[in-house]
Amino acid sequence: FDQFHQSLKDNKMAGQAVRTLPTPLTLDDFDVGVTLGTGSFGRVRFATHKTTGSFWAVKMLKKAEVIRLQQVEHMISEKNILTNLDHPFIVRLSGTFQDVKFLYMVLEYIVGGEFFTHLRKAGRFDHQASKFYATQIILVFEYMHTSDFIYRDLKPENLLLDKLGYLKITDFGFAKRVAFKTYTLCGTPEYIAPEVLLNKGHGKGVDWWTLGILLYEMMAGQPPFVDDDPMGIYQQILAGKVTFPRHFDRNAKSLIKKLLVADLTKRYGCLKGGADDIKKHKWFQGFDWDALLSRQLTAPIIPTVSGDADTSNFDPYPDSLEEAPLPVLGQNKDPFVDF
Ligand code: AMP
Repeated sequence: FDQFHQSLKDNKMAGQAVRTLPTPLTLDDFDVGVTLGTGSFGRVRFATHKTTGSFWAVKMLKKAEVIRLQQVEHMISEKNILTNLDHPFIVRLSGTFQDVKFLYMVLEYIVGGEFFTHLRKAGRFDHQASKFYATQIILVFEYMHTSDFIYRDLKPENLLLDKLGYLKITDFGFAKRVAFKTYTLCGTPEYIAPEVLLNKGHGKGVDWWTLGILLYEMMAGQPPFVDDDPMGIYQQILAGKVTFPRHFDRNAKSLIKKLLVADLTKRYGCLKGGADDIKKHKWFQGFDWDALLSRQLTAPIIPTVSGDADTSNFDPYPDSLEEAPLPVLGQNKDPFVDF
């Protein structure tokens, strides 16, 4: 352990982030700080690993809530999928542990805050900035789909900005390994694909649909299908009519129209050429994909960051002390053995 610890320290001194932590981990290994964000079953908190001094985002999932909302499978699959993924634009999971009340996921801390916050602050992005973000999503989906993983939950809230202003995609609670089709209804109303609504089975195509929605939202400032009532949104999705503001970039509009296509045999990304059809679209003409992947492009927004432990890019959350009681489990029946 001493040797391991020393090499972690050396890594830090060389200016490299600590990528792995000694296992097994417990909550006592961390100084837990402010809440960075909340999800349906718990919160994500900033944490300092005591012995290495490294910074992490610890996702704390209330077991009682995970069970109540029947998300046990999703959480185990989030862990398994994230453990298997390794990509510069995907948040890295360093380890997991659990205690009586919570499941914990130790994620690399992404210092620039939510993409959602930056988008709302800007109102909308010009087509160059939108292209910078869209291309990262395309590379992530291409990478995931190659191993038959689908993401299924693209939206501005699930994207974070790192200190260079590049994206990190987070929240793999809905991600799934699917070679062909799956039938679970999931997603956020504004981003749900028509085939999910029709419950006819869906696959990788849903990710390309959500890319179309995100592209539109970045450049228009709001998603293409909006209504106070989700039913109204669903009706618009099925009607399939997208109207564009007058200022919209012509080539970007052309790509969005090729993504927001209900017919899967015609939707870009789902055709014979796969993600390549999208990458070769004229909106991306001259775009340097290699420079993007190696982070050599200058990002349109570079977050203001005072250091690796700065949490000022996240909105403050009140801390809650309330905790739901644990459901009574049958003896010998721990639903979380695989976590
Ligand atoms: P999630 O439940 O994964 O959607 O996370 C909920 C919120 O926690 C996100 O919207 C972010 O605000 C924050 N968050 C999640 N993961 C991280 C991370 N790795 N670094 C910083 N903040 C995070």
